[in-house]
Amino acid sequence: MERPIYKGKYYLTIGLEIHAELKTKTKMFSRALNNPDEEEPNQNIDPVSLAHPGTLPVVNKKALEHMIRIGLAVGGNIANFTEFDRKNYFYPDIPKGYQISQYKHPIVSGGSLAGVALTRIHLEEDTGTNKHESGYSLVDFNRAGIPLAELVTEPVIYTPEKVSEFAKEFQLLLRTLGAGDANLQKGEMRVEVNLSVSDDPAKFGTKVEVKNIGSFKAAEAAARYEMDRHIALLEDGRGDEIKQETRGWDEDKQITVSQRSKENSEDYRYFPDPDIPKFYLHEMFDIEKMKSELPELPWQKRERYSNLGIKAEDIEILIGDKEIAPIFEHAVSVFSNQKDVLVKASNYLCSDLLGYRANIEGFQYPQKESFAELVEMIAKNLINSRGAKDILLILCTQGGKPSVIAEEKGLLQQSDEGAIKTMVQKIIEGFPAQVEDYKNGNENVLKFLMGQVMKESKGSVNPEIATEILKQILS
Ligand code: ADP
Ligand code: MG
Repeated sequence: MERPIYKGKYYLTIGLEIHAELKTKTKMFSRALNNPDEEEPNQNIDPVSLAHPGTLPVVNKKALEHMIRIGLAVGGNIANFTEFDRKNYFYPDIPKGYQISQYKHPIVSGGSLAGVALTRIHLEEDTGTNKHESGYSLVDFNRAGIPLAELVTEPVIYTPEKVSEFAKEFQLLLRTLGAGDANLQKGEMRVEVNLSVSDDPAKFGTKVEVKNIGSFKAAEAAARYEMDRHIALLEDGRGDEIKQETRGWDEDKQITVSQRSKENSEDYRYFPDPDIPKFYLHEMFDIEKMKSELPELPWQKRERYSNLGIKAEDIEILIGDKEIAPIFEHAVSVFSNQKDVLVKASNYLCSDLLGYRANIEGFQYPQKESFAELVEMIAKNLINSRGAKDILLILCTQGGKPSVIAEEKGLLQQSDEGAIKTMVQKIIEGFPAQVEDYKNGNENVLKFLMGQVMKESKGSVNPEIATEILKQILS
């Protein structure tokens, strides 16, 4: 990967740790519901998620399955032997006094995503959430025990932009696999940026970890801010003030603030959880079969769309936008081999429809079948591009059937050659002097005559066909 130099001599190194909640019916180790939309505190709880004495965890098989599928998608190694460990620490949101996680035997190791080498992806349980009011704090255990994938990258990210690109790609992968919604705003996905700056590309600087990142934009901004902070200190000869610590991103102030000095993994006293059996995943699951059953992955779809001739920025919309993606994919299935038609379809979705969505009150998505019908009318030259936009607007505000709308609004383009020929004949007879002029070599007259044809037909003829016919008759 290309490694840029900042301020003339500094190298940025970033490794990411991303937590993502997995989509399961129940929690990682109990039958309490995993419902990320629950708004009332402490509804999805049971004796296990509250750590009542004597309760025992039972591993959620679906969560293991999600992990294996994620691992296969990124080309990682799926461990045969895997186990769960206790990560001991005291905090009110973790009632057992430890979090069940994985230490020595993560389910997935290696692999890569968006060109970034992965260290591992392990499975753990989410914690509860604390709410700090003035004078007291509250704990909500709805989230405690939700299955959580933790992905760790190698320190091989060299720009702030790559941080958000990578995180987006992981979100897209989770959604594609149906493994999670990974909504950052809802806390379903949490990005932690580990970052250091050095003037020697072969050496690491002091590493700082930045948390409390609530959006892709914030991830990139936090990385950029932190890099600039390190560079400013280094430039000022105050490099020793860069401490190995955890910092938090302050979204309002757009700065990072020191939270705590970083604990070592020894502090957690990891050890295998004696309450949970060990797993031999290759005996439990038919991994080869799971691999063959993976859906089309984002990068594969990207390539397929790219081969259709669709431009890169539109591809990101067509594969990443939950609502638009199925509309386009349906069009692709209908017009599978007509690249030019699909490129047009992608333009209508990525520029016109997105414009309507952003600006029009009461916007609705067109039915995928209606959109396909519209595309077919465009392909068959039954409407011109102005008409197509008008019909799309109606589809996005009222819905309806494109052919009926076109009829009602008089947007149908005359493509019947016989009818166009009659109209062209009429114009030729009406403008003999101009026709003579054209025959004497004045090509510009063609435009004038076409203008008359369009006027005569009130703009309803297909201009390409009419021009052809006009040329034919005059030649
Ligand atoms: P820790 O033990 O502090 O948690 P790890 O070695 O587990 O550190 O790494 C955590 C994350 O930090 C990984 O994503 C890793 O790639 C990244 N990382 C490690 N060292 C550095 C560094 N010097 N600069 C930037 N990122 C780093
Ligand atoms: Mg670590």
